[in-house]
Amino acid sequence: MDFLRPTTWEEALAAKADQPEAVPIQGGTDVMVEINFDVRRPVALLDLNQVRELHDVELVDGVQRVGAGVPYVRIIEELGGALPGLAQASRTVGSPQIRNRGSVGGNLGAASPAGDSHPPLLAGDAVIEVESRDRGVRLIPATEFYLGVKRSALEPDELIRAFRMKPAEGPQYFSKVGTRNAMVIAVCSFAVALHPGERRVGTGIGSAAPTPRRALEAEEFLAAELDWDARLDPAVLKRFGELCAAAASPIDDVRGTADYRRHALAVMARRTLTWAWNDYRKARAA
Ligand SMILES: Cc1cc2nc3c(=O)[nH]c(=O)nc-3n(C[C@H](O)[C@H](O)[C@H](O)COP(=O)(O)OP(=O)(O)OC[C@H]3O[C@@H](n4cnc5c(N)ncnc54)[C@H](O)[C@@H]3O)c2cc1C
Repeated sequence: MDFLRPTTWEEALAAKADQPEAVPIQGGTDVMVEINFDVRRPVALLDLNQVRELHDVELVDGVQRVGAGVPYVRIIEELGGALPGLAQASRTVGSPQIRNRGSVGGNLGAASPAGDSHPPLLAGDAVIEVESRDRGVRLIPATEFYLGVKRSALEPDELIRAFRMKPAEGPQYFSKVGTRNAMVIAVCSFAVALHPGERRVGTGIGSAAPTPRRALEAEEFLAAELDWDARLDPAVLKRFGELCAAAASPIDDVRGTADYRRHALAVMARRTLTWAWNDYRKARAA
């Protein structure tokens, strides 16, 4: 097995262009498990750990740009204010060891429907920045990034450079159901982001369809029915939960049944919207 060790972003792009079958490795918390269990035996590994550009966190024209290699622990420590939904989701990933090594770039690269970063990226309108040596930069909205179970819009000669997301302009929440409280893959998960400027609510569903996805009908329903100057109407809340559950297409598997996932999604949707709405009202009253 070849082991490629670029030290700059340009070198990394060149290595991927010359050897598209090389498997990128960042934290290795997915890649090494697969190699150890003989799920894959790559002809080459492309180690991105020396590429310093992948560790940048910066604010560019009012948009947060976070390098693909930034580990969860830094998202929790540095971005809790700007990207609270993603920071909450990051706190639920694995264990301290996994959060020290694992990255959102790796979560995106793996494109598992159960990845915890995906729902908040969807709810917060994230854009994924990918690049190839020969075709340059592509900006892919998160909604278009996930194509199937563990399949993404990333081309074989491309690498993920960063994700971009506007700092939260309203409350954001993430909720995850697992078979225990830590070190657990989501049975299902849900994220909500209030965008008060546009009078819009963003959503993200995890682990309840072949890809992470938004609950579009539920978002449209709230855009039409939510009174931003009033208390949350229980009938609106109930319908929102139902529409979020209906947006999923879950399966029965070892972690849970499809029915349970739909039920849990409705509960999480109602809960997270209530938490966010209460924060929003409190901030307005202050
Ligand atoms: C014990 C344990 C617990 C876990 N718990 C959770 C959990 O609770 N929630 C959760 O979501 N995940 C969990 N995971 C899975 C894993 O930690 C996450 O998916 C993590 O985000 C992967 O990041 P990484 O940097 O380690 O990725 P890596 O393992 O380095 O890479 C993952 C994939 O992304 C690709 N990749 C990495 N960087 C790039 C790049 N810049 N460009 C293109 N492709 C790239 C790799 O080729 C690979 O296909 C767990 C894993 C373990 C071992």
